[in-house]
Amino acid sequence: MKHDCHYHPGDPAKWHCGECQIHYCTRCMPDADVRQRKALCPSCSKAMRYLGAATEVIPFWNRIGSFFRYPFHSDPLIVIAICTLVPLIAPANLIGILIWLLLALALFKYTYAVINHTAEGHLKPPSVSVAFTGSGFNIVILQLLVFIFMGGLVGAAAMLGGPLLMLLALAFVVLALPASIMVLAMERSVGAAVNPMNLAVLISRIGSPYFLLYGYLILLTLASGVAQDFAHNHFPFWFSQPLSGFLNSTFTLILFNMLGYLLFQYQEELGFASDIQDETAAVDMQQRDRSTRFDADIDMNLKDGNYDRVQGMLKEALKRNRDDALRIGQLYQLLIARNDTTELYHFHPRILDWLASRSDGEGIASLLGMLEAAEPGFKLEDPELAVRCARCLYQRGQYKPAIRLLQDFHKRFPESDELAPAYLLIAQSLANGLDQWEKATAYLTFIQKRCEKHPLHEQIPVYLAQAEKQELLKGPKASFAMPD
Ligand SMILES: [Zn+2]
Ligand SMILES: [Zn+2]
Repeated sequence: MKHDCHYHPGDPAKWHCGECQIHYCTRCMPDADVRQRKALCPSCSKAMRYLGAATEVIPFWNRIGSFFRYPFHSDPLIVIAICTLVPLIAPANLIGILIWLLLALALFKYTYAVINHTAEGHLKPPSVSVAFTGSGFNIVILQLLVFIFMGGLVGAAAMLGGPLLMLLALAFVVLALPASIMVLAMERSVGAAVNPMNLAVLISRIGSPYFLLYGYLILLTLASGVAQDFAHNHFPFWFSQPLSGFLNSTFTLILFNMLGYLLFQYQEELGFASDIQDETAAVDMQQRDRSTRFDADIDMNLKDGNYDRVQGMLKEALKRNRDDALRIGQLYQLLIARNDTTELYHFHPRILDWLASRSDGEGIASLLGMLEAAEPGFKLEDPELAVRCARCLYQRGQYKPAIRLLQDFHKRFPESDELAPAYLLIAQSLANGLDQWEKATAYLTFIQKRCEKHPLHEQIPVYLAQAEKQELLKGPKASFAMPD
């Protein structure tokens, strides 16, 4: 089954959080470790399932060879060797029988663990210790109960409905046996393993591949029988006995590995989640790329409409890094969209600085308008920032806001080095923008009188001459000091 990303419809989902039931695409999970197939849910921080694998699972009929190689790993070989060879040298008394029983139990437990292990996506066999430690030895009794129940079912059918019904019951039991073993291995419950509804649902969800698997199971069982028969007829008893035991265990492991793999392959249909497991060490999830993760989180929260949360995240980020231009820009856009004048007022020095660095005269003008509406008579506290903003305004033809921004500059910042450029800007706005040559001349004269030490001072006569002739105030030709 294909899923789309919850936040990017049309993009195939690569991750699924079982907890939140949300699908995420690669764009939403920039911090995911695709190689290790590990990612934490952005919403609940739980590990997520990698969906890429769900479509990547090789169908079992294309990897039959791997099933036959499965028992020939060191772990299963050791288990089989211990369980088939040790009883041979055990004493022929009660203790010997006890040892034999215990080892049979361990082998049984190990084979059932193979189903779980494979279904969880481990393509390598479980370790030796699984056979001899932990709980789960009761699986033998459970499987025995299942067989007894199934026998009883067939018997009851025979008594109630005669041979025909018995045959039908027998057919169902035989057909459902692999499904029953799978359910028993996964759920460890006799009730679930013999519930006809359970088994029918499992078989129907898997569909025809179940019967394909069934064919393989019959072939394997026959092959195992023939091989054991051959061993009994052609080798002495001391050799044929362990060989037959070994063959039996090997074929059982192959069968159970197939059953587990069938569960793994149809995990989506069967409603449980697992993934191919890497046995390598867990990746350090601390090394997630924080800033890309942050961007993806913002994107998701915006799409979810969690504006307060996004605002909080941005403010938090700005606490850590005061002058993070990217975050200031994002906060500005969010605050403008939400028309949040209070917060705009709070962040206005940094936002204006950001707008000025982008020469966004329109943005500055509209923000100043909002600030003025929120606080009539609003003035910028930072002379240098005021001049930078005014210059942007002037360049975008916003003459009146530029002049308003710099009004009374000499009273508010009498000692500032920015006084000369500020009043030159006013003069240029007045003359070039508003055709007020006399007022412009007044400001130029002011600079001439008051700012003798400023580098601009020596250019003032040129500006004054231009104002005299009512030309555009451009300054000296070779000067790059003031763009017009
Ligand atoms: Zn996405
Ligand atoms: Zn989650």
